[in-house]
Amino acid sequence: MLIPVIGLEIHLQLKTKSKMFCACPAHDVGASPNTNVCAICLGNPGTLPVPNEQAIRFGTMMGLALNCTIAAHSKFDRKNYFYPDLPKAYQISQYDLPIATNGYLEVEIPDSDRPLVRFGITRAHLEEDAAKNTHGVEGKTLVDYNRGGTPLIEIVTEPDFKNAKEAKAFLQELQRIARYLDISNADMEKGNMRCDANISMREVDADGQIIGARFNPKTEVKNMNSFRHVERALEFEIKRQTKLWEDGTPVTVSTTRGWNDVKGITEAQRSKEDAADYRYFPEPDIPPLNLTALAEELKLHMPELPAARRARFVEEYGLKPLDAAQMCDDPAVADFAEHTFSELQEWLGSQEGDLDWETEKPKMARLVSGWLLSKLGGLMMERSIDIRICKITPENFAEFITLIATTKLNGTAGLKVLNAMLDAGASPTHLMEDLKLGTMEDAGALADIIDRALASNPEEVLRYKAGEEKLLPFFVGLIMKETQGTADPGVTRNMLLVKLKS
Ligand code: ADP
Ligand code: ZN
Ligand code: MG
Repeated sequence: MLIPVIGLEIHLQLKTKSKMFCACPAHDVGASPNTNVCAICLGNPGTLPVPNEQAIRFGTMMGLALNCTIAAHSKFDRKNYFYPDLPKAYQISQYDLPIATNGYLEVEIPDSDRPLVRFGITRAHLEEDAAKNTHGVEGKTLVDYNRGGTPLIEIVTEPDFKNAKEAKAFLQELQRIARYLDISNADMEKGNMRCDANISMREVDADGQIIGARFNPKTEVKNMNSFRHVERALEFEIKRQTKLWEDGTPVTVSTTRGWNDVKGITEAQRSKEDAADYRYFPEPDIPPLNLTALAEELKLHMPELPAARRARFVEEYGLKPLDAAQMCDDPAVADFAEHTFSELQEWLGSQEGDLDWETEKPKMARLVSGWLLSKLGGLMMERSIDIRICKITPENFAEFITLIATTKLNGTAGLKVLNAMLDAGASPTHLMEDLKLGTMEDAGALADIIDRALASNPEEVLRYKAGEEKLLPFFVGLIMKETQGTADPGVTRNMLLVKLKS
């Protein structure tokens, strides 16, 4: 039997103010091409690179998050290659002494026979990005050196992945970690997270024991700009390589292929350079780094990471694991939820009677999940807004949840209030009153409306009384319409049942 062997190499653009070795702005997206450049990042002779302290801190934080050993002795090296995106004709990178080595990341794999997998991290190192080439402009290639010299961290994994889904889940978790650490936007579509996937096949027997070579020559797949691309490209490569094995012509030399998302295939590129081709040698202008003290300092200030936060959300707020995962996907949404829950805890504490947090927890978890993830999430998606620019504060959102929890607001009216909150950013209680959307608490008025509705639909009443009970929702609907959604559906139903019996 053949099984895939997959290892990933990921580049993350670090969110520093300045470039890796000079003072030029690093991520000035609006800047005209070739304006954020200087003698250092253009590689003029006689200039001296100075490592960016923030990039080193960010890189070390990622190393710690990936459970790596942080180097007591690390250095930079020159990786030589000749290409227009590299004005010095070498890239300052790290070869044999990277900042972080020998770590791991545990990732949950949904719907899998390996639900939690520990993937080994070989190493993580710092380097500078190359310039950006734009091919095909009037048959020419244009080069923008603004990107040249911006800081990157490259993370290399062990070949521990068994399928495309595992690779995708790992990349998504890595993205979350980068965002929680606030060291990179880690957006694959925007190119600030890039992934190369290495893949080969291995022969195993029925017990999963390796037959033949432990590792076979691999194919490195490049040019994938989304998680979906990575997944599709790997699935394609697994099929392609399996077929080659079955035809008796397995891959015999390591090569590089590019993913063509339009055609849905990988295409041969060049054959792969090995390290010798790059003639690595130590960067003589930068002294070695001892990161031990920095790592000790950073350990004290590491933020809570996504996995820990998800587990705590389940434990502390009684959320379902899937809801907790969705909330913790974006740290800003998680902060919003956390703030909402603490407001709700305070509110429950201030209520008279026997409402307490532990008993109300499941209900609150259900309401916050439903209203935050599906309803508010949906409304924000429709308007293409993000929680960061949403006008609803967690205080107002918590107040909204209390109105729902105490049935002062029903679901239909709730959605209208939420919409108005998004527009106005005002308190839900005020909006509810302004819009006259509070639940009809006047039972007498509701009874009158029901009487009138029944009187004007005599035929349906007769059919109901003759046993057609499925007409009940029709009557409830009439009342909801008549009261513009302000009647409580439960109360309406009960009143209708009584009136239709008589
Ligand atoms: P290279 O010499 O091409 O740089 P490395 O040994 O540095 O190769 O590994 C680069 C990446 O490829 C790592 O993520 C590693 O896990 C993965 N890898 C190495 N060998 C294989 C293989 N035979 N099949 C699949 N992936 C591999
Ligand atoms: Zn510069
Ligand atoms: Mg390598």
